[in-house]
Amino acid sequence: MLVPMELHSLTQRRGYLSPELAIGWQIGKYVAEFFDGLEEVEIAAASGDDAALALSHLIRQHGHPGQVIVPETTRPWNFLFYHLTTGTLLSFTLIRPRTRLPQEIRDLEPNLSVDNPAVVEIYQASLDLLVKSIFSQPVTNFCQISKVRCRRLLAIENGNQRTGCYRCGRPTPVRKAWDIEGDICCPSCSGLEPAWYTYH
Ligand SMILES: [Zn+2]
Repeated sequence: MLVPMELHSLTQRRGYLSPELAIGWQIGKYVAEFFDGLEEVEIAAASGDDAALALSHLIRQHGHPGQVIVPETTRPWNFLFYHLTTGTLLSFTLIRPRTRLPQEIRDLEPNLSVDNPAVVEIYQASLDLLVKSIFSQPVTNFCQISKVRCRRLLAIENGNQRTGCYRCGRPTPVRKAWDIEGDICCPSCSGLEPAWYTYH
């Protein structure tokens, strides 16, 4: 199978190439192209699996100083990227039937052992096919992508002005509020990861 050169060292180290590695890699490449680099991009992954590992590997290659955040609680997306320069938030939700093995193949998982070479072979062939399909199709085929514009509100005069959050109604200091596609929101309703609005 044709594995991208930059991913090769990682797969050598891990000893395998999983669909999640391919997914993380493909999404990372898409985002790098979308924002013309990853240096100014904050990254979060809903789970700390191989996809997050591939993303970490990719951002290190791009000289990214940060890390991939994996939140402790559930999120409505699988991957989230925030471009600091343009205030663009890109979220990715995987289309499951296209990113995981068919049910009848997953049903073989309890029977995978050295005593069952035929089953292992069928399983491996299906796995290879899935990885190959992830590498060969555009990210938009296996992910739903949404793009949101986020801006920090500019506080005028004193810093004590408050405004009601458009989404939850909570009074929020204007200097902490965000304009999310025209809705004035408190930080928690902004859709950004807490680490991002705390430090920027
Ligand atoms: Zn709110």
